[in-house]
Amino acid sequence: MPSREIYWNISGQYFMYLMILTALGFFAHGVYKHYKLWCMGKKENRKSNYIKFLGNILSHRNILKESLPGFMHLLIFLGFIILFLATVIIGLEHYLHLEILQGNFYLGYSLLTDFFGLAIIIGIGAAVLRRIVKPVTEADNKPEDFIILVLIAVIVITGFIVEGLRLAILDVNWQNWSPVGKGFSRMFLGFSESAQKHLHLLFWWLHVFIVCVFIALIPGSKLFHLIAASLNQILKNEQSGKVLNSLDLEDENAESFGTGEINDFSWKQLLDLDACTRCGRCQNNCPAYIAEKPLNPKELTQDLKKALFFAGNMSNLSISRHHFFQETASGIEAGGLFNYVSPDEIWSCTTCLACQEVCPIGVEHVQKIIDLRRYMVMTAGKFPKELQTTFRNLDTNGNPWGIGWASRADWTENINIYQSKEPKEDVILYWPGCFGSYDERNKKVTKSFIEILNAAEVKYKILGNQEKCCGDSARRLGNELIFQMLVSENIENIKKMGIKKIVTQCPHCYNTLKNEYPQFGGDYEVVHHTQLIEELIKEGKLSLETNKELKITFHDPCYLGRYNNSYVPVRNLLTRISNLSLLEMDNKMADSFCCGAGGGQMWIEENKGKRISSIRSLEVEKTDAEILCTACPFCLTMLSDSLEEKNMAVLDVAEIINGINK
Ligand code: SF4
Ligand code: SF4
Repeated sequence: MPSREIYWNISGQYFMYLMILTALGFFAHGVYKHYKLWCMGKKENRKSNYIKFLGNILSHRNILKESLPGFMHLLIFLGFIILFLATVIIGLEHYLHLEILQGNFYLGYSLLTDFFGLAIIIGIGAAVLRRIVKPVTEADNKPEDFIILVLIAVIVITGFIVEGLRLAILDVNWQNWSPVGKGFSRMFLGFSESAQKHLHLLFWWLHVFIVCVFIALIPGSKLFHLIAASLNQILKNEQSGKVLNSLDLEDENAESFGTGEINDFSWKQLLDLDACTRCGRCQNNCPAYIAEKPLNPKELTQDLKKALFFAGNMSNLSISRHHFFQETASGIEAGGLFNYVSPDEIWSCTTCLACQEVCPIGVEHVQKIIDLRRYMVMTAGKFPKELQTTFRNLDTNGNPWGIGWASRADWTENINIYQSKEPKEDVILYWPGCFGSYDERNKKVTKSFIEILNAAEVKYKILGNQEKCCGDSARRLGNELIFQMLVSENIENIKKMGIKKIVTQCPHCYNTLKNEYPQFGGDYEVVHHTQLIEELIKEGKLSLETNKELKITFHDPCYLGRYNNSYVPVRNLLTRISNLSLLEMDNKMADSFCCGAGGGQMWIEENKGKRISSIRSLEVEKTDAEILCTACPFCLTMLSDSLEEKNMAVLDVAEIINGINK
């Protein structure tokens, strides 16, 4: 009956136990050092959807978003798991005297282990090739990347050689169930049995030795991502960056606000840094990096990781301590994070979340960037000079331009506003936001939406000049003080009206009111105007019949799409319009490319690199569309500017629907 010989040609296993124990000692010590690094961070309660994220790791759902490298990684990952389990089975059989590897089970086992061993070799070959073929800057090759790939390949190949020699010597008649091992056995057919046995012994010990080196190297190399990246994914908070952490501004013991030192980050944020594998996906999808601005989310993460390792007196194959000392010898006092990160980097972020969307291991970049901004604004008092005016305007007049607060409702002149007298439970609060109230272009969107509400007989009210900026820009620019002040005034005024449901045309207001106001007791049902319009269309309250042929492309605003996963309602309502062709851009929905205005960039001079909106406009032009439709006043402003000289109308969804419904 087919069965597996164990230790048949090996003696001195006790030396093997010594080697394994030594390797495990190095491993445990290294893991403990990483654990101590994470413990340097502040407390943070992490509740996560552990099962879902564990499923993501096993299925490689995130990694496979880039199909070729994803598949490559999957081959190596699955191969590793199968070969590890196969080794465990051998251990169980031998030490517990079980008869597992017998008969058909053994034949299946043998075929499977050969198949997955081969899968690892193919995966490694593809990974090496990709690193050589890819442009150096994109692949970011470091010697350790190749050392690790070669090490894994040597482990698998020596394993196959050992198997081949065993098959050659024992000459069993079920060799076809070990096709790769059988192939390797051909290499040794002309050797004497004694030579084969000596070679078997040599390669067996070499195999064990390299496995032990591999285990010992895990904590001090990129291999540590096996642990850190898995943990990081399991502990991922899907709302991170979308809903920013709240600061306790009344904490009398607080010596500073925001993050200026590495231990101002939470333990999870430090784990995040430690887990980054330098894969470069965040870099390749970051609009700021693509527009040649001084921000690269991968480098930012790696630079913060250097700061972490320096603070924890750690090094690994990529990050040496020597390297830190060279850096800190530049004359800036060691320890402060701004030795590692330049202010220009953090002020270039549009908070678009593209980096987090593509990061295969769940690194949360945006909250860290905001924490660094908070330190700059609220502790160091250093920020782009133009923001001084923005902050003052928000503080004194509740809008970023500083136009008198009392004129906030002037847009209502000559518009038929229906201030509902219905019971407050049935009434929706319409929230035009700062752009919809003050900006001439966006006031046209406001008017269109009011006409839609009137036509569909929706019962609504407005706050008029009691409405203030929702606070999105202040918060994302790191000014939590002004943000919380605006929030408390708005919550107070909404409370007086007693309203429970809000509709807004601005995705920034939508995200802030829906997801961040609950941190301060403002719990409402908040909908975006695209969602409400879709409902009204479904209820048959609006007409979508037109004779005109419309060729439209839609730009997904980051704060509607990636922030709130709302991609379908707007497409539903656009595709219901008769004679409309929806011509999608290459980067759509979760892959949408930012307009460049989020994260407070609207109020910072864009004087470095290219204009992000111009890059998006090139994509718009590539479609055959005559109209660019969007659903955000920031996007409308940025893309209208970039497409000014092109023969293309840039319209909000409300303008298109209202134009047809008239
Ligand atoms: S949020 Fe957007 S702009 Fe900021 S680092 Fe990430 S990808 Fe780049
Ligand atoms: S942060 Fe994520 S996407 Fe960016 S390099 Fe690190 S692992 Fe890759």
